[in-house]
Amino acid sequence: MWTLVLNCGSSSVKFALQNPETGEGRLSGLAERLGSGAASVRVDRGGERVTHSLPGGSYPEAFGVILAELDALGVRDDVRAVGHRVVHGGERFSAPALVTPEVLDAIRACVPLAPLHNPANLAGIEAARAAFPALPHVAVFDTAFHQTMPEVAYRYAVPEAWYAAHGVRRYGFHGTSHAYVAGEAARMLGRDLGDVNLITAHLGNGCSVTAVRGGRSVDTSMGLTPLEGVVMGTRSGDVDPGLHDFLARQAGLSLGEITAALNKEGGLLGLSGLTNDMRELEEASARGHVGARLAVDVFVYRLARTVAGMTAALERLDGLVFTGGIGENSASVRAATLARLAVLGFRVDEEANARAVRGQSGVITAQGSPPALVVNTNEELMIARETAGVVERGA
Ligand code: AMP
Repeated sequence: MWTLVLNCGSSSVKFALQNPETGEGRLSGLAERLGSGAASVRVDRGGERVTHSLPGGSYPEAFGVILAELDALGVRDDVRAVGHRVVHGGERFSAPALVTPEVLDAIRACVPLAPLHNPANLAGIEAARAAFPALPHVAVFDTAFHQTMPEVAYRYAVPEAWYAAHGVRRYGFHGTSHAYVAGEAARMLGRDLGDVNLITAHLGNGCSVTAVRGGRSVDTSMGLTPLEGVVMGTRSGDVDPGLHDFLARQAGLSLGEITAALNKEGGLLGLSGLTNDMRELEEASARGHVGARLAVDVFVYRLARTVAGMTAALERLDGLVFTGGIGENSASVRAATLARLAVLGFRVDEEANARAVRGQSGVITAQGSPPALVVNTNEELMIARETAGVVERGA
């Protein structure tokens, strides 16, 4: 049984054909710049890459290309379901859900919580249902995994009415990735997921850290929005809540301008004044670029501080997991983070750490240290598994 996994943004569709049982992937790609005259779709047929232009720049046109690719592979009739990544499920969704009119309404009700992402996810689901009308569609939420957080972790110390009337609380994101790598890490450690306490660090363009107790999220660094927490590519992570008022008075900036800058001009990019790309920053830092060095140092320091803070959610720490583009590839960020966490007993194994790059996973700590592991995330496979589970259960 194949599952088509879709991640629809406002101007893009990421897709992957996955076998949830074997973990095999056959076809993947990215449609970009939808809605413009320059739209195109890049298809990876398992090594062979082709790019089609999309003169109309529309979702249906992009899905037409995906259908033609499925036909060319001769697998169109073997696709059993479509799994959609949806960013925000609010408090309504603690698990993936079969797409029905009620579920679409509930996703729509979460639009105020994710005004950029949920409308694009909804538009993508509608277009995909038109393109694949005979298949069940399943919504898999970025927030769902974190719905197991206890109230002490998800509440902010703000007036209660803000929570009651507007849902102002911590939700957390990247749930699919944290859930997947926690499962893989338990397997690699030879432990039962139900018995291990892990901290998972998803470090990509967006970054978040989660405490996972017995396979359940008990705290995470992102909050009401994906802006909270550690330093990211272009997102600031935590700042003083007094910042907006200060900047409005001092610099005459509007709320919208400040929020946009915190999302798009902060993080590694803001600190370095150079780029949001960790690999480029490491190279620039090695050449002596002061801003690049500072950006990497602040990234590592705040990451280590957050990991240490997450231990408050666990009675024991059985493993620290690094994943995402930075977590899976930057041996130096991992080594520097573990060095900052010496108080927890971490000691890196330099050779094992250097080996764990470009798709190599494994334990990167020395004997006697609590284990830190590199695990390659696979959100598409996780979404395919969750989708298949919902379709099998029929709910
Ligand atoms: P992702 O969003 O998971 O694709 O991660 C993107 C981030 O991973 C970017 O900051 C990249 O610079 C970073 N990254 C990818 N490869 C490497 C590498 N070899 N060394 C350092 N950072 C890397």
